[in-house]
Amino acid sequence: MENKFKFLILICSSLFFFSCQTNPMTGRSQLIMYSSDKMLNLSEVQYANVLKESKISNSSQEKARLQRVGTRIAKAVDDYLKESRLENNFKWEFNLIEDKQVNAWCMPGGKIAFYSGILPITKDDAGMAVVMGHEIAHAVAEHGNERMSQAMLIKGSLMAAAIGIQTTDTVDDEMGQAILIGAGGLASVGIALPNSRTQELEADYMGLVFMAKAGYNPERAIAFWQDMSKAGSAEKPPEFLSTHPGDIRRIDEIKKYLPKAMYYYRQSPQFQELEIKQLAPKN
Ligand SMILES: [Zn+2]
Repeated sequence: MENKFKFLILICSSLFFFSCQTNPMTGRSQLIMYSSDKMLNLSEVQYANVLKESKISNSSQEKARLQRVGTRIAKAVDDYLKESRLENNFKWEFNLIEDKQVNAWCMPGGKIAFYSGILPITKDDAGMAVVMGHEIAHAVAEHGNERMSQAMLIKGSLMAAAIGIQTTDTVDDEMGQAILIGAGGLASVGIALPNSRTQELEADYMGLVFMAKAGYNPERAIAFWQDMSKAGSAEKPPEFLSTHPGDIRRIDEIKKYLPKAMYYYRQSPQFQELEIKQLAPKN
């Protein structure tokens, strides 16, 4: 029993050391224990389930906006992955769900859903680009995988500690279950688990860069988060805030990221076109 305990500790610690990877955009090191194939498979199944159980919006105007904004940001992300020589396993899909929930998310592999309840807060293309950039950034940075990995490590450690106290032959089964994580639905791809503040700030930064590269003015993020925090003080706070815990620091941090994001925005073809129009002689 003693040896089994040591063996599990050894497995847990080596999993930890061999599962660290670095986010190339921010340099932060992360615990990633699930294979991307596993995450993509889970995501395919869960996304299909969500679509089956939901009512797809029939607002052609808003659906067109979602496609337009999504396609531009997806291209910026594809370009970024190519420039950084990173593997690209995104197969983009955008769906607008008719639902009062104030919510939006992106599953691993680029499976995106916006709920019509968030549209009064996003308001315009650039507002939608703030949320789209942020959600896609969570997927690019593999935050769902990271949260599931952290949960598994905690569960695995608790299990190892439990073996130290009691002898049981069912431990292997329990460990197996812990590794599979019995959680169903959106939790199984990590998107229903609350993001940590570190992940939130990282997604804010990366999201601003992606929206800027796609030619949307990243300054729009300030008004969006002000509107979201107003909605958060209502009697029933939006679902979006339960997975995206906000705090007063957020807007201050976004202001710090803006100069870098504005640099990318000015390089975008859309900005240059705007500038040429403004410089052109008026009648
Ligand atoms: Zn977030």
